Amino acid sequence: MQAFTAEQKMLRDTIANFAEKEVAPLAYEIDRDERFPTESFKRLAELGVLGITVPAEYGGAGTGYTEMCIVTEELARFCASTSATYADHADLCIDNIRRNATDNQKKKYLPSLCSGDKIGGLAMTEPSAGSDVMSMNLRAERKGGFYILNGTKTFITNGPVGDVFVIYAKTAPEKKAQGVSAFIVENDFPGFERGKKFEKMGWRGSPTGELVFEDCKVPAENLLGEENKGAIVLMSGLNTERIVLGAMSLGISRGACECALKYAKERIQFGKPIAAFQLIQAKLADMAMEIELSHLITYKGAAMADRGLHRELNLVAAYAKLYTSEAAMRVTTEAVQVLGGYGYMKEFPVERMMRDAKLQTIGGGTSEIQRIIIAREILND
Ligand SMILES: Cc1cc2nc3c(=O)[nH]c(=O)nc-3n(C[C@H](O)[C@H](O)[C@H](O)COP(=O)(O)OP(=O)(O)OC[C@H]3O[C@@H](n4cnc5c(N)ncnc54)[C@H](O)[C@@H]3O)c2cc1C
Repeated sequence: MQAFTAEQKMLRDTIANFAEKEVAPLAYEIDRDERFPTESFKRLAELGVLGITVPAEYGGAGTGYTEMCIVTEELARFCASTSATYADHADLCIDNIRRNATDNQKKKYLPSLCSGDKIGGLAMTEPSAGSDVMSMNLRAERKGGFYILNGTKTFITNGPVGDVFVIYAKTAPEKKAQGVSAFIVENDFPGFERGKKFEKMGWRGSPTGELVFEDCKVPAENLLGEENKGAIVLMSGLNTERIVLGAMSLGISRGACECALKYAKERIQFGKPIAAFQLIQAKLADMAMEIELSHLITYKGAAMADRGLHRELNLVAAYAKLYTSEAAMRVTTEAVQVLGGYGYMKEFPVERMMRDAKLQTIGGGTSEIQRIIIAREILND
């Protein structure tokens, strides 16, 4: 296992304890009711981990991606939705602003995001631009001191509840990827509307929705990075997003495996605990191995991100995203199998974990896209 520092171990123990005592008891309910985990979000703010990568002067904890992964993993062990809520806010919104904003923008937005007074999100995806994100159509036209945004973003985590979003739009559509710009957009800017909220298979406590922009007036000072350089802002976050999603997949796998191990020792069939059967042992052994490998690749990536090895991270982040998400799908599916009929019932968390795990192979770049990135890297393309 990765050698964590004493501070990182303390953080892990604190979040593990919080997750077991306060997040786990809500996991069933927020999944059933498809509701945002407000209580847990507030407690994460009190624990001081929302702005985990943000310097103290802007209200953050001043640590790094390893710490962000530790929090994400420990939450996902009991509730992927709460983990997704955290990662979307802390990584996709807050960390993006930390990396790319001006000092004035940081002073304006980071303190209220780090304190949890504001909920953050990030919007790239559009109804016709998913994996091919640079084909986005959301238009931003400069008019005096404002950019006027028109178009729709879809599948946006925290979309139905968020206050501050990093939004990508085309300022020069003819220049394709070189014509994308990034903006910080508040929910009360004129012309900002929330569209529909989606009903989902998993991640049901993490609300997902559309954002609609109709002549939305965004002050010019809310441009994030330079005009037409939004692709740099966008790409700057993809690798760390994939590492953090790796931590989430790892947490889901651990939660499912722990449940299967406990059940296998307690469930008696043919006069023995089912853990005594070699076919069950083989499943448990594979789960443990996949968890160990998920841990190694995730925290290798997090350590590289902390050391600023961004070029090298491209390949490792794709490995981490792909391996951990597909491992989580295998581990949760086998956990359901170990529990037999009970695994299919909502009395046990493994059926929810299996539904949650499926998103891991889709969001933040699908498994197919990760394989394309890996192939390009190894072919030196
Ligand atoms: C619950 C949820 C939360 C999300 N949160 C956010 C968010 O907060 N912000 C945000 O911007 N987006 C978000 N997304 C969007 C997510 O990132 C996209 O769904 C994802 O990138 C895939 O895009 P798509 O759904 O349009 O699928 P498509 O790109 O249409 O892909 C469909 C299928 O085709 C495959 N495919 C596509 N291109 C290729 C290719 N070149 N070669 C081989 N196969 C290919 C894909 O792998 C996939 O299997 C979220 C999605 C979900 C489901």
